[in-house]
Amino acid sequence: MKVLLLGSGGREDALAWKLAQSRLLSKLYAAPGNPGIARHAECVALDATDHAAVIAFARTQAIALVVVGPEAPLVDGLADSLRAAGIAVFGPDRAAAQLEGSKAFTKALCASAGIPTAAYLSTDSTDAALDALARFGLPVVIKADGLAAGKGVVIATTRAEAEAAVRALAGGPLVLEEFLEGEEASLFAISDGQSVVPFGAAQDHKRVGDGDTGPNTGGMGAYSPAPVLTPALEARAMAEIVEPTVRAMAAAGTPYSGVLYAGLMLTADGPKLIEYNVRFGDPEAQVLMPRFTGDLLELMLATAEGRLAEAPAPVFSPDAALTVVMAANGYPGTPEKGGSIAGLDAAEATGATLFHAGTGRDADGGLIANGGRVLAVTATGASVSAARDAAYRAVAAIRFPTGFCRSDIGWREVAREAG
Ligand code: ATP
Repeated sequence: MKVLLLGSGGREDALAWKLAQSRLLSKLYAAPGNPGIARHAECVALDATDHAAVIAFARTQAIALVVVGPEAPLVDGLADSLRAAGIAVFGPDRAAAQLEGSKAFTKALCASAGIPTAAYLSTDSTDAALDALARFGLPVVIKADGLAAGKGVVIATTRAEAEAAVRALAGGPLVLEEFLEGEEASLFAISDGQSVVPFGAAQDHKRVGDGDTGPNTGGMGAYSPAPVLTPALEARAMAEIVEPTVRAMAAAGTPYSGVLYAGLMLTADGPKLIEYNVRFGDPEAQVLMPRFTGDLLELMLATAEGRLAEAPAPVFSPDAALTVVMAANGYPGTPEKGGSIAGLDAAEATGATLFHAGTGRDADGGLIANGGRVLAVTATGASVSAARDAAYRAVAAIRFPTGFCRSDIGWREVAREAG
């Protein structure tokens, strides 16, 4: 069958790589794709905000499933438009995508379904937020309500900082939250609206610099599994957080279909929900896909068609996978574009898998940097430490003079394994 994958990042390259291994796939299209995705798919110029154009393409090419990589088209209702046109899609409708699109929506759902999360206040009023600050203690977390790509969150450690953060968001809806202490882990689940199954866990590295310093990024590396999320904690997070969410969404008439990515804080009182995302993580997909032993297209199609209960339960390799993101100098500010990248074959000859994010081609067809995060270098091993060593061996083979990467991806788990 033919599949259309929407997106152009490292996450989508990992999805394309895995979809290309499906025995059900006859042809993969990607829009817009990137030079890495082009190894597995025919890349086409389609604008995901133009729903009519996506539908027309899907009809002309007899696409059996559309896979939406990033969140913006989902929050924008692309899945609704496709379903209304009778086209199967992996990804939630607009109403269900509110789980990522609106923090206030998710907090209200947690409150009504008894899902463990940080105490909060959601308000449009700057004065009400300033008044409420006293009730929260310090540190306090201040968030803009809508999609802000990780840049709408301030963890204020002084009252003055908290007031400044609230004032900076004046005029728009905001959420104040109790600060949760613990280690963060990401749990993935697949739901067809009724059934839900766990789909692996990962830990990422948001800060740009070694030692978790410097500004936040989209993610500089990740590993899977996340041993800190023990089987018992994962079962608890499924039972107390993910399953009640799926039930509440179905009961509200807005069933959740797609991958649900739960950002968890593992507190002394158990797992608590920090946030939901309505798509795979980037770079978490780059460590989940190499460990998933099943047929991704079969799973996604069963999800889109409401047949998840009949599909084989997802199985993951016991091996660890770790990915190191190579970014262009300047990221997460203004990345330097056009720098040459070489040595990819040598890197892959070490056994690693390279996923492309912000790569492009120069006039001679040479590979160049064309974005902030440029490559994700993934390797597997019997432990996180072994996967880390293998990933950095591959990184060492890559010549990208205008780029950089963190040198300590996996540090938490590597320390525990050494420990
Ligand atoms: P992103 O999608 O990039 O993760 P976002 O804008 O959706 O970001 P959140 O995930 O809600 O925002 O918060 C970003 C980060 O801030 C979290 O990963 C976590 O490290 C921290 N954080 C958020 N809420 C809390 C909280 N209540 N207590 C402690 N830390 C928090």
